[in-house]
Amino acid sequence: MTDRRYTIVGDGPAGLYLAIELMRAGRGRQVVVSAARSALGTGIVLDADFVDLLEHRDPVSGRRIRQACRVWSSVRIAAGGWETVTGGHLIHGVSRAALIGILRDRAAELGVRFVPAQDDLASSRDADDADDADDAGDVFVGADGAGSAVRAAMAAEFKPEISESGSVYLWMRAGASFAPGFWVAEIDGGTIVAHVYPYAADQSALVVECLPAVARTIAAPGSDRRIVERKLTQIFADQLGAAVLAAVTFPWRPFRTVRAGRWHHGRHVLIGDAAHTTHYSVGSGTRLAVEDAIALAEALTANPDPEAAFAVYAALRRPVVLALQDDADSSRIWFEDIGRHVRLPADQFAFALRCRREVNTFGWLARRDPAFTGRVLRALAADRRCPAEEVPAGIAVPRLMPLRLGDRVVGGRIFGADSQIAVQAPRTYQISDGIRGHPDYVVVPVGDRGQRVERSRAAERLRNEHGLTVLLRVPEISDDEADTLIAAGRIDGCVVGPKGGEAIE
Ligand SMILES: Cc1cc2nc3c(=O)[nH]c(=O)nc-3n(C[C@H](O)[C@H](O)[C@H](O)COP(=O)(O)OP(=O)(O)OC[C@H]3O[C@@H](n4cnc5c(N)ncnc54)[C@H](O)[C@@H]3O)c2cc1C
Repeated sequence: MTDRRYTIVGDGPAGLYLAIELMRAGRGRQVVVSAARSALGTGIVLDADFVDLLEHRDPVSGRRIRQACRVWSSVRIAAGGWETVTGGHLIHGVSRAALIGILRDRAAELGVRFVPAQDDLASSRDADDADDADDAGDVFVGADGAGSAVRAAMAAEFKPEISESGSVYLWMRAGASFAPGFWVAEIDGGTIVAHVYPYAADQSALVVECLPAVARTIAAPGSDRRIVERKLTQIFADQLGAAVLAAVTFPWRPFRTVRAGRWHHGRHVLIGDAAHTTHYSVGSGTRLAVEDAIALAEALTANPDPEAAFAVYAALRRPVVLALQDDADSSRIWFEDIGRHVRLPADQFAFALRCRREVNTFGWLARRDPAFTGRVLRALAADRRCPAEEVPAGIAVPRLMPLRLGDRVVGGRIFGADSQIAVQAPRTYQISDGIRGHPDYVVVPVGDRGQRVERSRAAERLRNEHGLTVLLRVPEISDDEADTLIAAGRIDGCVVGPKGGEAIE
């Protein structure tokens, strides 16, 4: 078994880490097939937990990666004349080229053999070749990224589904170290946002995104790269100071979420972006790629039969990846809707941005940055739906704040299905299909798909586009989730129960 040959196509984080893990486990002779080293990308962000994992797993490369990182614990959000800072997260920024360089050097030190990428490699070894190969135990790994040629050559076996985001992005860099966070600008065509993260003393990465219609107003499709760079530099001039933006990817493109229906077939297996991608706004693709590599190496080390090893690997990793893809979907949708969110008061907007991800809730942030959640409560109290003079002193959670419903004021925001509020939500006019409401407030059923953002999207839209007071009808909800949705300006309260708030015919 130690003579098994591992052919790894792709020298990104997934392929390199797999090679390192296999060598550290003393497994056979490996071959990493490198692409022409396209140092694509500028900087990326890594979670603190992931940097810990890297150091724990392979201390040699892990320490080098940690040293190459810049670390921050707060996020600065700036939009049209205001800015707010929120804390609670430890995040690392690193140059992608530095990360790849460290992993590549480490792999070479361990004896991994690199060969140049071959154009026909992916297509020259299809499943039948592999099944018939003399070296029956050999393993062929597609670690060649989101546009994987290995996956494409065996599309019938891997059954990839690829969906595109509603917004488009440019991956950019600027020669200055900015505070990490988000810059939001309102321009004639709509809203544009830059995700900003510093990764060196004098370098920052920016992912600039907007809806396609907004991109078209910045510069006509087909415009020269330098024109687009100049226009974006002007749009973010207040934040950039003397720095200018340079596009690393061009032209604008949608983000492609890849979901391979199967991750392995015969002797072939996919890892990292070749098998699955997650929207950049959750900054998790590198971690998933490396975790895949670790799980696959462990399975191959423990199982004499590669196909059995692949099955173990896929069973372990699929649920983790699917959960994160759901989270990434929520985050993607939130950014696609940013033109509505930006109408919220500054601190509420910042809170909504943080809580687009399932893991971040009101309670979670209140424990880590109580000053910030205190400001969010004050923003809620100042909203016209809240009678500020009736907010009792010391209220620490949104669900207990009073709410105006027409000429009534109610002393909290969670109502039973048989409460007057729910029962008296008669059909007086129809706002849109399926949602019937009272002029003073509407009761909107929770969506049955996705996570927080997707499930409450219809409610949020009615609240922030039409200015209505919106109660979400939910079968059940935790206090923390209700607080999170209210604080994020997605809803104003909840009707809880199996039939609560159903439109009365
Ligand atoms: C705009 C944007 C921002 C992102 N920001 C972050 C972030 O902040 N944090 C984060 O964790 N993730 C981020 N990601 C995702 C992250 O870059 C990927 O998830 C991660 O790099 C996946 O690693 P991988 O090794 O699977 O694929 P890749 O990194 O794509 O590596 C694949 C490698 O294979 C090579 N290759 C391709 N074809 C062949 C071939 N035929 N033969 C040989 N080699 C080949 C390529 O040159 C490449 O080096 C971002 C992605 C995008 C698009």
